[in-house]
Amino acid sequence: MDELEGLECLIALSELDARKRELDALAAALPAELEKRENELDARQEELDQLQRVLEEKQRERRRLEASVDDKTQLLAKYRAQLESVKTNKEYQSLQSEIKVTREQISDTEDKLLELLEGIETTRRSIDERRRGLEELRAEVTRANEEARARLRDVEVQLVEVEEKRERLIPTLSQPVRAGYVRLFERYQGGAFAVVADGVCQGCYVNIPAKVVADLRSGAKLYRCESCGRFIFSVVPD
Ligand SMILES: [Zn+2]
Repeated sequence: MDELEGLECLIALSELDARKRELDALAAALPAELEKRENELDARQEELDQLQRVLEEKQRERRRLEASVDDKTQLLAKYRAQLESVKTNKEYQSLQSEIKVTREQISDTEDKLLELLEGIETTRRSIDERRRGLEELRAEVTRANEEARARLRDVEVQLVEVEEKRERLIPTLSQPVRAGYVRLFERYQGGAFAVVADGVCQGCYVNIPAKVVADLRSGAKLYRCESCGRFIFSVVPD
């Protein structure tokens, strides 16, 4: 095989390698994307559970306050019944004072209860709202994840195809070029090629001699960067 054929083969390989890198990056990013969405769902569910616990706590407090109002109301009735049978003025005044204190306590508790009921209502609305939001998000995540899984399967199929094409191309390279390519592919994790732009190798940012750049532009010769060893191509500006 002459050098030019080798060059064409390398160009085809460089395109496959670039595609492979893109696909590898996609395949690596997709599971993280799925996980991120699942985590977001978990966080929102946790917020909702937390709010549910707050509501339960408020309901317990409500029952406690209601029981307290009942107790005090019974106490008040008892004091009032006792008023019928008091013998002395002192006893009467003392009972009246108890009645006054108890009524104030009932009134205070009822105020707290009213405030608490408003709080319960607000929490309940907030829970309903969040629950709806969570359901919407869950549907969205399910859809997005299904789509991402389908994309991942597609990427995996494409990767196999690219891999097969590479396997077919590599043996057609001349032995030294092939050996160089395989080494570079491993060393630079698939980046065996570099573009030369403005006379600079974009793999290592070292200047390429003008003579080499001119040859690259004519596309007639196979070169490797003297600094990083990558096969280099020139991109002629449009
Ligand atoms: Zn270089």
